[in-house]
Amino acid sequence: MIISERNLQRAVELHQTHPVVDAHMDLAGEILLRHQAGEVNILRRLHMKDFKQSGLNLLVSSIYVEDNKLPEMGLRNALDQIAVIRREIDSLNDAVLVETKADLQRVLDENRVGILLYMEGLECIGTDELLLDILWQNGVRGASLVWSRHSALAIGVPRVQAEQIMPAGGLSPQGISVVRYMEEKGMFLDISHLNDDGVADLARITDRPYVATHSNARTITPCLRNLTDEQMREIAARGGVIGLNANKYFSGFDRGGDPIEAMAKQLQYMVELAGIAHVGYGFDMIDSYERAVPRLKQDIVLSDAFSDYTQIPVLTAYLLESGMAEEDIIALIGGNWVRYFMEMLPE
Ligand SMILES: [Zn+2]
Repeated sequence: MIISERNLQRAVELHQTHPVVDAHMDLAGEILLRHQAGEVNILRRLHMKDFKQSGLNLLVSSIYVEDNKLPEMGLRNALDQIAVIRREIDSLNDAVLVETKADLQRVLDENRVGILLYMEGLECIGTDELLLDILWQNGVRGASLVWSRHSALAIGVPRVQAEQIMPAGGLSPQGISVVRYMEEKGMFLDISHLNDDGVADLARITDRPYVATHSNARTITPCLRNLTDEQMREIAARGGVIGLNANKYFSGFDRGGDPIEAMAKQLQYMVELAGIAHVGYGFDMIDSYERAVPRLKQDIVLSDAFSDYTQIPVLTAYLLESGMAEEDIIALIGGNWVRYFMEMLPE
């Protein structure tokens, strides 16, 4: 489908005049990697201009700990990520660390870039729930129990390149205990990366709305990192949101095809299944992180549908072109996530 200049222009306008949310980016990890390599002002130099041009109002930054830091250096690495991203946010007038409903409201009222921190996997706490208090005190407002690995709390789905067999086994007793404690504290739960048995357990032990910050539909792209129809229906039934992932493996353009078309196909299916109020953007753009990873000889594998952040309105323009109502598009680009976080964040 060819996108008209008129719809491109309209998409940019919608992004500038309505809340735009991306529910997943490994931003804190990238900032720490670059910081360790001697770079400074990473947010300002590499990201803020693009974020603002795309109309972004809220970015959910993961705190993602690499395998080679676990177990001993995991917590230190997570705390370093939190410290360094907070330091960068503090140094900027147009960026805000979002810890409360009021912070989010301020970001929207003043059209600034809000950054919300969450743990992508709780491997770094082991089974020590007390550490959730420390993370909370430092601005972390949500978590997934596990990344794509086995932990003391839960079992993750395999990495994309690994053999695609869904590992069996639900949450451990400590995992269940952590979920209950997170609920008590008011932390939001993310099921992206959690295996099917774990998701089923979670659905049994909690009534609250949970989300998948960055997962697509398994029916459209048969990859275990994506959600089953049942998992998507359950998120919707509880009032949660599913973030559309822009990664080539999860959107299915790794074997060719147009990335925007592939994502739109995913999105249309997700909307059909979960309803317009329960789908948003969670692009998981990883190329800038990959470029920051120190390497000797390995080539960088690029995975993002967008060449950079400023290209995000192209997807929105595609949706306009395909006849989606503007009211629905406004919900998708950020309205749904804003509703969810306004409910979940503390006063
Ligand atoms: Zn992830």
